Amino acid sequence: MIPDVLIIGGGVVGAACALDLAEAGCRVHLLEAEGLGGGATAAAMGHLVALDGSPAELDLCRLGVERWKALAPRLGTALEFDPCGTLWVARDDEELALVRPRCEAYQVAGISAEMIDARHLHEVESCLAPHLAGGMRVPGDAVIYPPAGARLLSEAAHRAGARIETGTPVATLEPGGVRLMDGTRIAAGAVVLAAGSASREFLRHLPLVKRKGHLAITDRHPGFLRHQLVELGYLKSAHGSDADSVAFNLQPRPNGQLLLGSSRQFGDDSPELRPALLRRMIHRALDYVPGLAELNVIRCWTGFRPTTPDHRPLIGPMPGRPGLFLACGHEGLGITTAPATAALLTAQILGRSLPLDPAPFLPSRFSELAHA
Ligand SMILES: Cc1cc2nc3c(=O)[nH]c(=O)nc-3n(C[C@H](O)[C@H](O)[C@H](O)COP(=O)(O)OP(=O)(O)OC[C@H]3O[C@@H](n4cnc5c(N)ncnc54)[C@H](O)[C@@H]3O)c2cc1C
Repeated sequence: MIPDVLIIGGGVVGAACALDLAEAGCRVHLLEAEGLGGGATAAAMGHLVALDGSPAELDLCRLGVERWKALAPRLGTALEFDPCGTLWVARDDEELALVRPRCEAYQVAGISAEMIDARHLHEVESCLAPHLAGGMRVPGDAVIYPPAGARLLSEAAHRAGARIETGTPVATLEPGGVRLMDGTRIAAGAVVLAAGSASREFLRHLPLVKRKGHLAITDRHPGFLRHQLVELGYLKSAHGSDADSVAFNLQPRPNGQLLLGSSRQFGDDSPELRPALLRRMIHRALDYVPGLAELNVIRCWTGFRPTTPDHRPLIGPMPGRPGLFLACGHEGLGITTAPATAALLTAQILGRSLPLDPAPFLPSRFSELAHA
């Protein structure tokens, strides 16, 4: 039987789930406390990136990027889909030595990746510093404008029959449904918890923490950059457990602005900018792209990545809570992996064939949830 599904949260993950579930024939009701895509989604860079922290992560990213490519023509130009690819940059020969095995791993996963030597690096991106050792190009990666992504997915879900309600905070989970802040009870065959970092307010024992990030954006310089640039050491920052770290990450926006990332911080839940960390981020970027020194940063902001201890999202049934499914904890990859999460979750809810191995993402992998 096809259940009625209630989704808590209208970020990119909840919106992607709403679209897939509605198109699969479910009667979908999405409840968003504030506006669509206003949480972590609004703070993100929008890099659709095949990241290889683990084979499972790479698989989820691959499916996410593939599905965004298929969705982009349907969602329209407001998505600002730019198939710019990623150029991973090696600082030295030690980093460059890692490129060949990495290219092979991508190819095994069905993702095209090519090694670029130091001589050709400047033909690919002329703004890069002369001392850099080379890199890896992943031409299939892309960029979108994340808040538009959440809105456009929700609108497509609405056209497929979903009911989308904003300004409607959910107060608690109840057996067979939820209770809203105003006391109204809504029953549903299945509930999807996609409230990002706030998911922990519903289930206190969820292994989720906030990981703060800073971004900065420059004024317009069309033609300065063609690819999304990322330092090869990025994974160390993304998957590390240091209190504070920065990794160079620079994105060309379609209007010519350059979006600069990114920092990672545990244990700082204040949205305030930390100037020392921003300075570290900017200095690191100047090592890779010295010409940035001539540009003006016009705005900086922070956001919070919903992070699990193993850096993989929670996707699937919640043990001991029949009818409750989790779709949260996507850390720094939620934009990329939202459509893959939606495909996996829809198959799990409807008992259909799964698009990838669900085991690395099941909530039951954490003992505190398995025995809840
Ligand atoms: C600085 C930074 C850069 C990033 N860059 C990238 C990137 O380049 N690529 C990438 O793939 N990912 C990136 N990310 C990660 C990405 O932003 C997140 O993984 C993703 O947005 C998570 O989406 P979500 O829908 O789970 O959460 P959110 O976007 O936070 O959405 C959750 C929604 O739930 C709603 N909600 C909360 N409580 C309730 C309630 N009680 N009732 C109803 N609704 C509720 C919230 O209002 C919110 O709209 C970045 C993140 C940061 C912080």
